[in-house]
Amino acid sequence: MVHDNKMILKGLNVEELKSWCIDNNLSGFRADQIYEWLYLHGVNNPDKMGNLSKKCRDAIHNTQSLSTLKLISKTVSENKQTVKYLFQTTDSYLLEAVSMITESNRHTVCVSSQSGCNLGCDFCATAKMGLLKNLSAGEIIDQLIMIRRLSNTRIDNVVYMGMGEPFLNYSNVIKSAKILNNQKGFNISVNKITISTVGIVSKIKKFIQDEERFGLAISLNASNDNVRDVIMPINKKWSIQDLIEVNKSYVKKNKRKRITFEYVLMDGINSSSEDAIELSKILQSAKCKVNIIPYNETDGKYKRPSDGIINKFIKTLSLNNKNNNFQIMVRWSNGLDIDAGCGQLAITNNKGE
Ligand code: SF4
Repeated sequence: MVHDNKMILKGLNVEELKSWCIDNNLSGFRADQIYEWLYLHGVNNPDKMGNLSKKCRDAIHNTQSLSTLKLISKTVSENKQTVKYLFQTTDSYLLEAVSMITESNRHTVCVSSQSGCNLGCDFCATAKMGLLKNLSAGEIIDQLIMIRRLSNTRIDNVVYMGMGEPFLNYSNVIKSAKILNNQKGFNISVNKITISTVGIVSKIKKFIQDEERFGLAISLNASNDNVRDVIMPINKKWSIQDLIEVNKSYVKKNKRKRITFEYVLMDGINSSSEDAIELSKILQSAKCKVNIIPYNETDGKYKRPSDGIINKFIKTLSLNNKNNNFQIMVRWSNGLDIDAGCGQLAITNNKGE
């Protein structure tokens, strides 16, 4: 990636940094030092990278740009626990990331993997933007570096659930997740990094085959193909049955880990007791977790069900989970007052020009 005719170092892994060092007549061990400065310490100014030689600092100055994002704005929720950040890439594309402090005082950050998205989920605000670009690994990492610095708070959990479909930007997403996990990067456990996909089955298979250990979530959102075809067009390519089959391969390979199926509850669409029974039948054969997320209303046609309907759905699902095959969780999203809940991220002026 090039910025102001300079390559961008942010997002490179140790091996790539080593090659860059060799190309610049620098010792290979400088790569480990640069890696720590970039990711562990989040330092963007080579002059502040104390243990680098002058030759190394000059090489960075002369050939490399270290920043990939600029902060455009920051919106804080009324309870101060959720902050939505609007960033701009060096080529002027906009993206959002959300920082949330949970009740247990953990800091979770929801990052974007693309600017916009072209999968057209009918209930999603991001879909209205279309796909503008795949973010580089550096641009994904920089969301976290900037939020860590701006909030002055260590990051405990990362979820790839912001703008975009992470598995349509697979290599950059996995590369960035590895930097987050690396002890000399962000040192976040694989269990605290979750990648959420609408169900790009070809890439889920790759993820399983590559034995990636990060958490995996699939947005299911319907208990039958008729509804899912309408609200998530990707279902015409990979059906609910395909998702259940790929879950079986996952369970076979991972004895302890489980995929989380996300189910956004929308009034009159997928929230009836019949839907709950149908969902329990689909999942009976699937060892997995289910995360029920009451819909966060945007200005579109979908509505959040009443608390009564939400509670009835959860109760019915739970009563029909006869073999305790799946574990049920409920996420009452934070940040609704600043449009930072699930499915609410969208920018109306797509390119920051
Ligand atoms: S829900 Fe995710 S995959 Fe679907 S349109 Fe929105 S950002 Fe894209």
